[in-house]
Amino acid sequence: MEKIDHLIHAKWLITCEEQNRVLENHAMAIKDQKILAILPSEKAQQTYQASQEYHYSSHAVLPGLINSHTHIGMNFFRGLADDLELMDWLNNHVWPAEKKWLSHEFVYDASLMAMAEMIRCGTTCFNDMFFFLDATASAALTAGMRAHIGMHIIGVSNAWAKTPEECFDKALAFYHQYKDADLITPTMAPHSTYTLSLPDLIKAKEIADEYQLKINIHLQETSSEVQIAMQKYNKRPLQLIHEIGMVSPNLIAIHMTQIDERDCEILQQTKPTIVNCPESNMKLASGACPVDKMAQLGVNIALGTDSVASNNDLDMLGEMRSAALVGKITAQNPRAVAAEQVLKMATINGAKALGIDHLTGSLVPGKAADFIAIDLDHIETLPVYRPVSQIVYSAARHQVSDVWVAGKQLMKNRQLLTLDEKELLKKAQIWRKKIKS
Ligand SMILES: [Zn+2]
Repeated sequence: MEKIDHLIHAKWLITCEEQNRVLENHAMAIKDQKILAILPSEKAQQTYQASQEYHYSSHAVLPGLINSHTHIGMNFFRGLADDLELMDWLNNHVWPAEKKWLSHEFVYDASLMAMAEMIRCGTTCFNDMFFFLDATASAALTAGMRAHIGMHIIGVSNAWAKTPEECFDKALAFYHQYKDADLITPTMAPHSTYTLSLPDLIKAKEIADEYQLKINIHLQETSSEVQIAMQKYNKRPLQLIHEIGMVSPNLIAIHMTQIDERDCEILQQTKPTIVNCPESNMKLASGACPVDKMAQLGVNIALGTDSVASNNDLDMLGEMRSAALVGKITAQNPRAVAAEQVLKMATINGAKALGIDHLTGSLVPGKAADFIAIDLDHIETLPVYRPVSQIVYSAARHQVSDVWVAGKQLMKNRQLLTLDEKELLKKAQIWRKKIKS
């Protein structure tokens, strides 16, 4: 019998690969941090000798969820300013609070807190955009999560960098420090067309080209953002960045709630990823990304929560449900944005957006062992006819029992294994006192 590290038995194995298979009573053999094989449980026990066996007998095992847009360093600003319009919220609340409070220590503590929340809802990978990048990176190394960290370029003076030039300098230093780190990937992240000049947007694009980085940008989040660009350039933001060559499969366009026919043509030709953040868009009354229409254009659509200041959680299960419901009402079609499609947005499509679909995002032999177990044996999710339906429409995050990244267990039966929950709760109270005073 072949020796392996772990044998993972699952009541349901939801693969999220091409054929969308949901396998019953199957097992995953894990060796050297990767999925070696997927086969019926009985056969697996005759084939492999595992150092450890795990029986998820009432669980669905599925790829780890990928949160494709976050600002996790903001986690201590949850609930600080709610029920406001985007520009008022940013100019009068978020940016002043960031200017006053942000530091390496703040972002490190907030990032750990956010990662604890993400792991507890089954997220194994996130795509961030914030300040004090090395604080988030070191927190991710502690937590053991897969982290894509945006080299944030913004023309709004903040505690990390006063000018875009300083952002670029710090971004490049971060890139050189982390370019070869395990589980950490730097990305380019110009904030938006309304917070940066055209030369700075061009510079961000050139650096991304030079170092082959994905580019994240908030794009056409609100109608006022579109108006600002129309007044300044007589162009919509998408058109503006298309003309400087920024729109390609390498681009991660976040939000895209405002889309006209010309935008559709550009998107169809250039095929960027759109990150849908339905809860943040609803809370700020920004609008809704027409997900069904975008999918018909062949655009890759991933899913993100945005920050807890505009959501107010990092719960990808809740976000999937919102994406399905908002997607249906936007398309005026109950068949649109089905549960399987939404689950793919939260897994393999996120991996495609980040350029790591060869590595993660589906349960396929050869990929990294990034997976989660969700216990469906709860009042709220029984009986189970279609596990994907239960996960998207009924399951809550406390049903996520176990989380693994690259063959390492980060949560076991709801217990965090890499982070100290009690310590995090203490830190949150300390920061609350300071911020409240
Ligand atoms: Zn955002």
